[in-house]
Amino acid sequence: MAAYKRILLKLSGEALMGDDAYGINRATIVRMVKEIQEVTALGTQVAVVIGGGNIFRGVAGGSVGMDRATADYMGMLATVMNSLALADTMRQEGMTARVMSAISIDQVVEPYVRPKALQYLEEGKVVVFAAGTGNPFFTTDTAAALRGAEIGAEVMLKATKVDGVYTADPKKDPSATRYSTITFDEALIKNLQVLDATAFALCRDQNLPLKVFSIFKPGALKRVVMGEDEGTLVHV
Ligand code: UDP
Repeated sequence: MAAYKRILLKLSGEALMGDDAYGINRATIVRMVKEIQEVTALGTQVAVVIGGGNIFRGVAGGSVGMDRATADYMGMLATVMNSLALADTMRQEGMTARVMSAISIDQVVEPYVRPKALQYLEEGKVVVFAAGTGNPFFTTDTAAALRGAEIGAEVMLKATKVDGVYTADPKKDPSATRYSTITFDEALIKNLQVLDATAFALCRDQNLPLKVFSIFKPGALKRVVMGEDEGTLVHV
């Protein structure tokens, strides 16, 4: 029934905010977890990378005037908080999740160890990769592409506010249409911003397909995992 055996799901930090101005909205995180649960019920192994923009973004806002690397480390720590919240909500919903961090915070979360992550996935546990890549000057999209390639995910699913990649910005141009599929090269030529340049290059070079879909559309995640025409598939 599921089209994929193993997926890497990238959620932006904002996906947890709901209608709030910042932080984690309880109803929103529960809904998110239930959507993930539907996918694990299909037998698909799920790894998650979550951003931190709902708490702290290194390149904007609270970081003005700050040393970039310091601000980025704060951003990575924000992803650890989101990861813990996500995994604990999964626990409350009866799922088993493990958080693995790219930065060691031994008392709080276990470190990322690839074979262990693979073992957890085989056991049907959801693995949440926290602290991005562990390096400043990167994004959680890049962390998602990196971990996705490392664990041999068949696809990276990027949950966004828009339900796919469009010919133009659908908010500005009502005649814009959604691509069902597009190649990485076409997306590059047409200057469609599907991922930042580092994440984009990693996906393309490692032949890791990317599916862009809306996190605000109920059931969209499940439809994506079932291989239905939801969102946009970017492929080599
Ligand atoms: N970040 C970083 N290295 C990484 C991942 C994230 O320095 O490998 C920092 C960066 O400052 C970023 C912040 O963490 O602004 C939050 O991540 P991101 O902006 O990707 O989160 P999202 O927009 O998905 O919520």
